[in-house]
Amino acid sequence: MAERSYKTDALVLSSRPLGEADRLIELLTWERGKLSAVARGARKTKSRLAAGVDLFTYGHYQLHRGRSLDLITGQEVKEHFTAFREDASLYPFGLFLAELAGRLVRSEEPAPETCRLLLEGWRLLCGKDLDLTGRMLLCRAFELKMMSSTGFRPHLENCLLCHAPETLYFSPSQGGLLCRRCAGGDAVRLSAGTAALARRLLQAPLEQVKMLRPLAQQLRELAAIAAAFRRYHFDIGELRSLQLIKLLNPPSR
Ligand SMILES: [Zn+2]
Repeated sequence: MAERSYKTDALVLSSRPLGEADRLIELLTWERGKLSAVARGARKTKSRLAAGVDLFTYGHYQLHRGRSLDLITGQEVKEHFTAFREDASLYPFGLFLAELAGRLVRSEEPAPETCRLLLEGWRLLCGKDLDLTGRMLLCRAFELKMMSSTGFRPHLENCLLCHAPETLYFSPSQGGLLCRRCAGGDAVRLSAGTAALARRLLQAPLEQVKMLRPLAQQLRELAAIAAAFRRYHFDIGELRSLQLIKLLNPPSR
């Protein structure tokens, strides 16, 4: 019979009140992917579970397998990303990473790469290095890497049909770049440099996004093709985090 109790390192992807005093949390774990668990009594001020069950927490958790949901029986906080709570304009960027990880990772499937990326992404966002452009780029880079690690790597090297080096179109449904001759269907036109920027974001370590200086137009194009790609391949519509990002950072005209 499988062990009823287990321990795991995890990142809290969401946390919501349940009943009178409990919290229902979603954890991203290295070994078991995504899982939902109940923290009984966590909303009571004296609860020893209260500290580790908020969104944007990295911790070590003890759990007990329940009939439907697992129960959190103990926890130890390793890192609290409090900057997301203290800075309202930063919050939706941290939320975006959590929402995307929650949507792309499956339950009961190891997710070491996503855990590593999310931890690094939260750390970089909470650091002092990133301006608004840097935060936007980090989201795009995180997304490209996440999609890559979950098996939907967009084709960004050359035209995905004829392999011509000239790539000025992106087709969300076909999942990559196209040349002028092959473009059709839902392919959208990109301005010069956007494809190279996307490649760089996919390949370079997350920490290097702060060195990139994209044009506003390139950022807008990347956001648009990312949204179309998400919708087509993952059936992800508008995310709450993206609505908040737009609300807090209205596009300049
Ligand atoms: Zn082509």
